[in-house]
Amino acid sequence: MAVKIDGKAIAAAVRAEVRAEAEAMTKQGNTPGLAVILVGDDPASRVYVNNKKKACAEAGIYSEEFTLPAETTQEELLALVEELNNRKDIHGILCQLPLPKHLDDKAVIAAISPEKDVDAFHAANVGHILIGDYTFLPCTPAGVMELLHRTDISVEGKQCVVIGRSNIVGKPMAMLLLHENATVTICHSRTQNLKEVCRGADVLVAAVGRAGFVTPDMVKPGAVVIDVGINRNAEGKLCGDVDPAVEEVAGYITPVPGGVGPMTIAMLLKNTITAAKALTK
Ligand code: NAD
Repeated sequence: MAVKIDGKAIAAAVRAEVRAEAEAMTKQGNTPGLAVILVGDDPASRVYVNNKKKACAEAGIYSEEFTLPAETTQEELLALVEELNNRKDIHGILCQLPLPKHLDDKAVIAAISPEKDVDAFHAANVGHILIGDYTFLPCTPAGVMELLHRTDISVEGKQCVVIGRSNIVGKPMAMLLLHENATVTICHSRTQNLKEVCRGADVLVAAVGRAGFVTPDMVKPGAVVIDVGINRNAEGKLCGDVDPAVEEVAGYITPVPGGVGPMTIAMLLKNTITAAKALTK
């Protein structure tokens, strides 16, 4: 039976460290500040934004929400980003995705100052990650690495397989594993022999977005299985990409909820501190 990696507890430890740093910065008159932009009324985005604001408040980070109507124009949104780029009390800017269809998310990400890009989505930051010389790491893959580090799991020399190649999760995840000397394979919707490839993994990261996608026959006995997926199953219950029966085969596993999810917000807070430190130096 796999050992469950407790993302809630590890995230709480990261958040406590962030809080101590935020308090020390506040004493010096440099309270870290995060701006959160929400366009439209997508209910899932509303929940994510509320969670981020609550986490900031608990960590002693100042947060300011900018809620814009769904019919906001590209020019209005870019003008807000520009204003926030210039604000001295704001060190991190986050634009909650997805944006309404008429808005160009790539242009919005490109407009955020790379120094305040706490999601690490800006092409400049992606490039820094690729060459291994970075300030910020994207929150979800960074959260996965933190889970591995704090569970004393080294990926050095190991076969790591990432299922999913999105810019937000799959690609940067593969890069962070590579930086720690793993042998990395990225699988995606056109991969052939997926089961065989996955069965060779010492560390298997699933970031597909399909409930129960990873089944026990895809997992090497004793492997570390990281479940990034956030889905609803047929009963409407929150679940990951990994079939619960994988617990019988894996050596370690991250539960959903309570695995990678809590780490994403913890790493966002950490990135905000990093940005604030760099900008107030
Ligand atoms: P995405 O839809 O952008 O990417 C999914 C990837 O899965 C694609 O690269 C695709 O090639 C791959 N894929 C699809 N079908 C496949 C198949 N049959 N075989 C192999 N690969 C296949 O999604 P994303 O933004 O990367 O998110 C992935 C999942 O992670 C989603 O469930 C999302 O909700 C979740 N997520 C969780 C967190 C968190 O904090 N835990 C953060 C971001 C995303």
